[in-house]
Amino acid sequence: MAQNGLKFRTTRPVKVGSTIVGGGAPVVVQSMCATKTMDIDATVAQVRQLAGAGAKIVRIALDNEKEVAALKEIRAQTRGVNLSVDLQENYRIADKVAPYVDKIRYNPGHLHHIEKSKSIPDKVRWLADVARDHGLAIRIGVNCGSVAPAFLEKYAGDQMTAMVESAVWHCEMMDSYGFDRFVVSLKDSDPAKVLEGNRRFAARRPDVPLHLGVTEAGLPPDGIIKTRLAFEKLLAEGIGETIRVSLTLPHERKHEEVEVGFQILRDVAAGRFISVPDFGKGLNIISCPSCSRVENDKFVELAQAVKEMSVYAAAHKITIAVMGCRVNGPGETDDADLGLWCGPTTVNLKRKDTKLGNFRYDEVLGKLRLELDKLIAERA
Ligand code: SF4
Repeated sequence: MAQNGLKFRTTRPVKVGSTIVGGGAPVVVQSMCATKTMDIDATVAQVRQLAGAGAKIVRIALDNEKEVAALKEIRAQTRGVNLSVDLQENYRIADKVAPYVDKIRYNPGHLHHIEKSKSIPDKVRWLADVARDHGLAIRIGVNCGSVAPAFLEKYAGDQMTAMVESAVWHCEMMDSYGFDRFVVSLKDSDPAKVLEGNRRFAARRPDVPLHLGVTEAGLPPDGIIKTRLAFEKLLAEGIGETIRVSLTLPHERKHEEVEVGFQILRDVAAGRFISVPDFGKGLNIISCPSCSRVENDKFVELAQAVKEMSVYAAAHKITIAVMGCRVNGPGETDDADLGLWCGPTTVNLKRKDTKLGNFRYDEVLGKLRLELDKLIAERA
């Protein structure tokens, strides 16, 4: 048993600032800021809020070099908290952010977007060198929804194998560069896929610590149930050395992600598991946990309003996705029957891959209701 009463595997220990992930250390609970990184005061407050709830690592998203100066100041005001940075689509800012963080996360599915003439192995080698030079850890963060095109082609029709093989390949590149201070995550919004992906990866690379997460789990309590469905089984099998619970919450409640994480760890250690036999059979609302990219804080209210409006459709097997930004919104809503993503003044609505237009925040709910009614009528 690990120190916090959970079963554990023998993975290598990975040092992230002052904390250790893997190697039999207690499972680390972490979280991520949803504030705009340029808003230094709000971000510092949220880092402290999350760390105060017990998060040992707090992640911040950065898109561009303009945000690096803000990160430097955030770091100066949050000494003692282990910071991780999400490189989003822009891996090239890694060396700029490196002096101010303890860990960087890159998404293997986003490396092809920029510097197309440079090979993926060259980009990964550069990231490993940056991390080594600055004493940082790396998370290879694979998402089922954004697997690298080369793997999707190679394993056409089998997204799961593409995701697992992509993660394994990146580990092998790290091995060949002599860099071993890395962890891996394999995420999806479907708990069953998180379960399968992590089990398969753990069988392939039992030495590599795993960061568990169910992306876009959504609003509590459903978001907590989805998360538990994946985490409980994995943790009971000893899989998962650090966890992040992603919930759609207003800023003042963001620390609840950490509290839920600790509750799950305690429950699994005590053998308490949830039982929800009918869960997932009807309406499914997925929504992102938000991050610095959200351009209108009404996003969380909108997600809540969508949930309340669609209660009448609870028995229908329909997925509605509500995303916080225009960057990832279009892609992250691809698998949903109805998708919404937020811009500064309007919300985009689509039905499967047909865009239905942009609507004001105060009118989009009515439009969504019409589309939901149509979908239910057609299926009937
Ligand atoms: S969908 Fe956009 S706002 Fe939401 S977590 Fe992803 S990048 Fe951030």
